[in-house]
Amino acid sequence: CGIVGYIGKLNAKNILLDGLEKLEYRGYDSAGIALVADQTVITTKTKGRIADLRQAVANDATGTCGIGHTRWATHGVPNEENAHPHQSQSGRFTIVHNGVIDNYRQLEEQYLNGVTLQSDTDTEIVVQLMDKFAEKGLSTEQIFRNVLDVLDGSFAFGLIDSERPGELFFAKNKSPLLIGVAAESNMLASDAMAVIKETDQFVEINDGEYGILTAERYQLFSGTTNEAIERAPFTASID
Ligand code: GLU
Repeated sequence: CGIVGYIGKLNAKNILLDGLEKLEYRGYDSAGIALVADQTVITTKTKGRIADLRQAVANDATGTCGIGHTRWATHGVPNEENAHPHQSQSGRFTIVHNGVIDNYRQLEEQYLNGVTLQSDTDTEIVVQLMDKFAEKGLSTEQIFRNVLDVLDGSFAFGLIDSERPGELFFAKNKSPLLIGVAAESNMLASDAMAVIKETDQFVEINDGEYGILTAERYQLFSGTTNEAIERAPFTASID
């Protein structure tokens, strides 16, 4: 299972699909991508191989921002509905997730009365909480922080807010996730291999941290103090 994300100047489609292929060795049962074009998010998912996903993605699909996922099912059978990305009921938020949310049942009971779920996954609860916690006057990062605060478990998240199409949000706790940094783009990847064609510059994300990517910059924050963290990239050497 794995995650890849891209925001920059190029068409994200092939970068995401190539990245997911590089993550195939980690094992998976289904896959999907979401592409942002203007303020519209288009999601394609399939059970089975990345080659099948490539077939399913429209030839003319474009977007300079997107997220991709290979799933190793832990909650809900491997099928198209349970494949990621998952979208919130309002359509505003789209998420990919590696890991397990241990308290997703309690969260569903506590906060999501009346929400019709589209999947059997623990992950969908997280994206539906984004909708629920979105109150007037709260920034996306505040909503995301409030959601992260109630989660128990392991996660690497890539998150799109269609109201902020020039940004990509992420968070990490006990699942692998790196930032890839290039001249006119920034990326997310579970493994540097996934985007090594685009860059050899990577920034570590520690457990409990979250942040925001744009085409020009990456921002990292501490999940406990919410203070900005300055962290320089390292050079990945791949044999
Ligand atoms: N727990 C999530 C699911 O079953 C994510 C699994 C993964 O890490 O791929 O959908």
